[in-house]
Amino acid sequence: MEKAKSAKTNLLIISIIYSVLFVASIPGLVLSAVHKVTALMIICIVILVLGFYTLPVVWIKFGDVCTVYHVVYIIYTERLYDSEQIALQLQIEKKTVCNAIRTAIQKGYLTNFIFDGNVLTPNEKKKALAAKKCPNCGANLTAANGKYVCNYCGFETGEL
Ligand SMILES: [Zn+2]
Repeated sequence: MEKAKSAKTNLLIISIIYSVLFVASIPGLVLSAVHKVTALMIICIVILVLGFYTLPVVWIKFGDVCTVYHVVYIIYTERLYDSEQIALQLQIEKKTVCNAIRTAIQKGYLTNFIFDGNVLTPNEKKKALAAKKCPNCGANLTAANGKYVCNYCGFETGEL
C-alpha cells in the first residue's frame, strides 16, 4: 500500500517538473534567442521537442499508476477481491482492473494474494500457519471439521 502510494507520488513529482520545464522552455527559448545564449537555446529546443512527444506519455503513465493505486486501495480498505466488483466500484473497465492487479502483484504492492485472472484469493497458507497456535493459551491447534480447535481450552476458529 505504502509502496504504491510513494510510486504514485514520485511519478507525480516527475510529471509536474517535466511539465513546468516544458512550459518554461518556451519563454526560455525566446529569451536565449534575444540574448544569443546558444547553449540555453539548444537545451530549450531539446526540451520542447522531447516534451511535445513524451509529455502526453508521461501523464498517461501517471494515470495508469493512479489506477493501480486506487485498485490496491480498494482491495485493502474495502476488501473487494472480485475484479468485476472493483470495476463497478471504481467505474472503470474490468480489463483495466485485471491489468492493474497484475501490475500491483508484480511490483509488490499487493502481497499474499493469488490472482486467477478474475478473483483475488488471500493466500491461505500464510493464514493457516499463523493460526496454528491458539490465541488464548498458545497451545498448538488441531484441524478438525474445517476448523482449528484447541484441545486445551476449547478455542475454535472457523478459518482454515
Ligand atoms: Zn487454547
